[in-house]
Amino acid sequence: MPPRGITPRRPARPGGQDKVTRAVASEKRVGAPAKPSNNSRAQARTAGGEGKAAGKHPKHTRTYDPVAHERVAEILKRLDQLYPDVTCALTHGTAWELLVATILSAQSTDVNVNRVTPELFRKYPTVKAFAALTPEELQPDVRSTGFFRNKAKSVVGAAKKIVADFGGQVPMNMKDLLALPGVARKTANVVLGTWFKIADGVVVDTHVHRVSRRLELTRNNLPQKIEQDLMRIIPREKWILFSHQIIWHGRRRCYARKPGCGDCLLENICHASDKTWSTVETHKDAKA
Ligand code: SF4
Repeated sequence: MPPRGITPRRPARPGGQDKVTRAVASEKRVGAPAKPSNNSRAQARTAGGEGKAAGKHPKHTRTYDPVAHERVAEILKRLDQLYPDVTCALTHGTAWELLVATILSAQSTDVNVNRVTPELFRKYPTVKAFAALTPEELQPDVRSTGFFRNKAKSVVGAAKKIVADFGGQVPMNMKDLLALPGVARKTANVVLGTWFKIADGVVVDTHVHRVSRRLELTRNNLPQKIEQDLMRIIPREKWILFSHQIIWHGRRRCYARKPGCGDCLLENICHASDKTWSTVETHKDAKA
């Protein structure tokens, strides 16, 4: 017993006065390894990058990597099962017709374009026939595909340049294709891949954009950056087929609104936050 009048000092709790220690302790509680979830692993990785923000728990950050070789290979395998031999859905018989159809398909559907092109190519059967037109003369023929003034200008401009600079032949390299009016990487990749069988890049249209983001194959939003990401993780020999497969998957199953997750072969390896049905945890950043 202490002498009367003297109150003994309570022993301090270890770290009780120490803000730093307390912070670490609370960090430990928050990230306690008792119940790790895929979701928290993905979020940790997203928030801070591998091994940085979650440096105290390197095991967690390493566990889930959406672009790990095995995961990408599994996605490719399942796409092969679903769409073994798909190709471009635009009706065409020559490289020029494919180029025109692809230009017309911007902001339109392939079905819509395929309604217009057979008659268009009957009316103007060669590149020279298109090159002889003014954009205004072409406009009525492509009106139903939308944005018809710009599209008519691009098609006639491309025809004139192909006749003037490339001897009437659609060039078979990226640089020359990109020099044509109305042709950006998406159109050039469609023509190079589908017609010439040259894998110079990956087609990134609205379907590839959406599905790649849902499958966490990219976190980018700009088509060119998405293409770079996909070129890094997809083997080159698969670039052409992969583009077509993802486009078909976007049309057939992975719709922009209400994707058909219940019938999707990729369901148990897809963590998209806007899935309509899921047997696995979803990741908030995996969205279209
Ligand atoms: S599970 Fe759903 S969101 Fe994921 S790829 Fe399939 S359809 Fe798209």
